[in-house]
Amino acid sequence: MVRSNDVMTDELSIAGAVEQLPKDFHLKSVIKDPVPPIVENNGSVNAEANMSEAKHKRDIVLGRNIHTTCLEVTEPDADDEITGDREAYMAGVLAKYRKSLIERTKHHLGYPYNLDFDYGSLAQLQHFSINNLGDPFIESNYGVHSRQFEVGVLDWFARLWEIEKDEYWGYITNCGTEGNLHGILVGREVFPDGILYASRETHYSIFKAARMYRMECVKIDTLCSGEIDCDDFKAKILLNKDKPAIVNVNIGTTVKGAVDDIDLVIKKLEEAGFSQDRFYIHCDGALFGLMMPFVKRAPKVSFKKPIGSVSVSGHKFVGCPMPCGVLITRLEHINALSRNVEYLASRDATIMGSRNGHAPIFLWYTLNRKGYRGFQKEVQKCLRNAHYLKDRLREAGIGAMLNELSSTVVFERPHDEEFTRRWQLACQGNIAHVVVMPNITIEKLDKFVDELVQNRATWFEDGKCKPHCIASDVGEKNCLCALHK
Ligand SMILES: *Cc1c(COP(=O)(O)O)cnc(C)c1O
Repeated sequence: MVRSNDVMTDELSIAGAVEQLPKDFHLKSVIKDPVPPIVENNGSVNAEANMSEAKHKRDIVLGRNIHTTCLEVTEPDADDEITGDREAYMAGVLAKYRKSLIERTKHHLGYPYNLDFDYGSLAQLQHFSINNLGDPFIESNYGVHSRQFEVGVLDWFARLWEIEKDEYWGYITNCGTEGNLHGILVGREVFPDGILYASRETHYSIFKAARMYRMECVKIDTLCSGEIDCDDFKAKILLNKDKPAIVNVNIGTTVKGAVDDIDLVIKKLEEAGFSQDRFYIHCDGALFGLMMPFVKRAPKVSFKKPIGSVSVSGHKFVGCPMPCGVLITRLEHINALSRNVEYLASRDATIMGSRNGHAPIFLWYTLNRKGYRGFQKEVQKCLRNAHYLKDRLREAGIGAMLNELSSTVVFERPHDEEFTRRWQLACQGNIAHVVVMPNITIEKLDKFVDELVQNRATWFEDGKCKPHCIASDVGEKNCLCALHK
């Protein structure tokens, strides 16, 4: 506090705009030792009891106590500036961390992040605090922004999803989740009494939106592929015909990479008597939003259809080094949503206030380099490699499934958590998955399968444990457990 006072009075006195501080106020009267004492951990006994309880739960590991591995912030010694010890210490920590990042990047298979990129020429921008606060289409007084890149990127996505420049609104979000929160919010603003419909295998961010906005939410059953069950969907909307429908459509589910049939969803809405002014569709394309446009038989995401919004993650298939995403909606909706805050100098239509101004430049850079054709090539490669992985797993007697439009290979969960961590696999119940992204080569997949096969031999050696049955997750025909092979 005292410090900031210090700076403030200096600046303001230059401007000559403030009254003098009282004579007896000494800026030098700072407290002697600003380092707060370490808080005693009185609850240590309780904490341990909780930990052992947590060990019995399978999927959330609290046991790897993050506090024991964290990098403590240490106080500089009085003479650090002279000796340079501090700088050397920090450089050492960072070098070690960098090494571990390289290693961890090499053994990553489970999350849908494209780790293959080179943004070296953007390093020069690290020196700036770029912030696109507020609306991308309305300039604020803060001049260190990247709106020119942001709107260029948005135009590219608008073309992809077939909406005219003067008919869309959108922004670059912090992640796919923020895009979902925004899309569902627009739906709720358009239909304040609407009911949200989403399949059981929908990403948790959609259900989080329902909780945040206190919306009535109806879960729809899924087929064993992970796709929304459109018959169940129709049955459930028929039960609530008096209320508008806000529907989330998955362009790739998180666990199985299933793509909901958007055309069939629209057809079911029409059959159930919902006219276009009685429903709102948000497309969650976080995962495959930028892959589907390049797959022949995939249902097309297009604003020529009666959809309200689309969101996609920028750090997944696109390959941005920081989390980000893109959200596009219809301008007419945003005008409705932001009308009541016109008294603000800028329109308030984004979820976040300050917004990462570096992300749009990274996206712009990648889109420029690859273009639609570049992405198409990468999609082909990913689908081909995903098929290769599925075939190799099945040849090795490991139950596996790959949806037709997807690069997510689902298979039996490994019996060894250490193996799962080494390859950073994402697991749910008895299944695990690998999402084949552009950085995952055939060589890497070979290495992975070879290791998995070797390890399996030891897991099942003495007959104590058997391969998981995954029939209820992926169907009997994809399961190779003792019962189903
Ligand atoms: C990853 C994902 C999200 C969330 O995206 P984040 O960028 O991680 O916030 C939403 N929906 C689906 C289907 C996803 O796979």
